[in-house]
Amino acid sequence: SQRVFSGVQPTGNLHLGNYLGAIKRFVELQDRFECIYCVVDLHAITVWQDPVELKKSIREVAAAFLAAGVDGDRHIVFNQSQVSVHAELAWVLNCVARLGWLNRMTQFKEKAGKDRENASVGLYVYPDLMAADILAYRATHVPVGEDQKQHLELARDIAQKFNNDFSQSIATNGFEEKFFPLPEPLIAGPATRVMSLRDGSKKMSKSEPSDASRINLTDDADQIANKIRRAKTDPFPLPETVEALKARPEADNLVGIYAALADTDAAGVLDAHGGAQFSQFKQALVDLTVEKLAPITAEMKRLVADPAHIDATLAKGAERAETIARETMNAVKDIVGFVRR
Ligand code: ATP
Ligand code: MG
Repeated sequence: SQRVFSGVQPTGNLHLGNYLGAIKRFVELQDRFECIYCVVDLHAITVWQDPVELKKSIREVAAAFLAAGVDGDRHIVFNQSQVSVHAELAWVLNCVARLGWLNRMTQFKEKAGKDRENASVGLYVYPDLMAADILAYRATHVPVGEDQKQHLELARDIAQKFNNDFSQSIATNGFEEKFFPLPEPLIAGPATRVMSLRDGSKKMSKSEPSDASRINLTDDADQIANKIRRAKTDPFPLPETVEALKARPEADNLVGIYAALADTDAAGVLDAHGGAQFSQFKQALVDLTVEKLAPITAEMKRLVADPAHIDATLAKGAERAETIARETMNAVKDIVGFVRR
C-alpha cells in the first residue's frame, strides 16, 4: 500500500516556504494516500530550544497542519516524542548508516557553521532520525522541500543497507525481501525551494534572524504587504518567458510563489504578468498571498487558543501512529536478533 510520511520542526516562525514546500502538499495528498504527518520535536532539539517556546511551537505546527486542511480524523497527526519508536529505531539505524555518508550532509555543515566542534551530536545524526521517522511507518512517499532531498537519499541508502545486511534474517523471520520500502521523494511544483525575500541565494528559513526575509504564517495583511513591497528585486520589468527568469533569482522566486499560490506554473504567471513592472506585480502578489493565507492564519489562531483540543488531537494521533510503528520495531528487533519480551 502507498503511505505518505512527512514532518515539520517546531522551531518557531512557520513561513510561506514551509507552507508551499510542505504543508500545502500534505493537504493535496490526502485523497491519494494514507498520510502520517508529524511535528518533529525530537529533531527540533538538535539545536537549543527554549522549553516554553518549544511547547508553544509544537501546538502551533499542529494547528498549521489542521488549519491548512489536514484531516486529523482520516489521517494521522501527532508529535514525534510521543512515539518512542522514533528514537529506538534511530539507534538501530545509527548502527547501519556509515560515518562517511553523514559527513557528506550539507545541512549539518550549514547549521553547525564555523564552530563545528560545538554542534550537538544530535544535529550530526539528524538524518538517521529522519530515516527512522519514515521507515518506522514503512512509508513509500515523502513530500518535502528541495532542501531535504539529500536526507531522503540517505534514508533510501539506509533502508537498502538494512535490507541487504539482514537479508538472511529477514527471510528466516518470514518477511518480504524488501523489508523497508525505499521511500520516494515527492518534490515537484513551482515552490520546492522558496527563497529569502532579502537574498535570492538563500532559502526562506525559520532560523534566519531577519524577519523581513520571510512571510510568517502568523503575519497579518499589513505585514505581508510591507514585506512583499520591500522584497529585493532587479530593476527590470517581469520577463515574457520562463527561460529569461533563470538568470534573475529574485524575480524567479516571486513568480514561483505566485504560481504555487495560484495553483499554476511560472509560464501561466508570465502569460498574465509578463512585461509588468515589479510595483504592479508585487501588488497582485500581495493580494493573492493575503487571500490564500488569511483564512489559514485565522484558523491557526482559533486553534492555538484551545491547547487542550490540540493536545487531544495529538494524543489520539500518537496512539494510532504507535500501533504501526511498534509493529515495525518488533519486526526490526526480531530481524536484528534481539530477544523480545
Ligand atoms: P529550520 O530553519 O528550523 O530548519 P525550516 O524552515 O527549514 O526550519 P523545517 O521544519 O526544517 O523548516 O522543514 C519543514 C518542511 O518545510 C520540509 O519539508 C522542508 O523541506 C520544507 N521547507 C523548509 N524551507 C523551505 C523553503 N524555503 N521552500 C520550500 N520548502 C521548504
Ligand atoms: Mg530545515
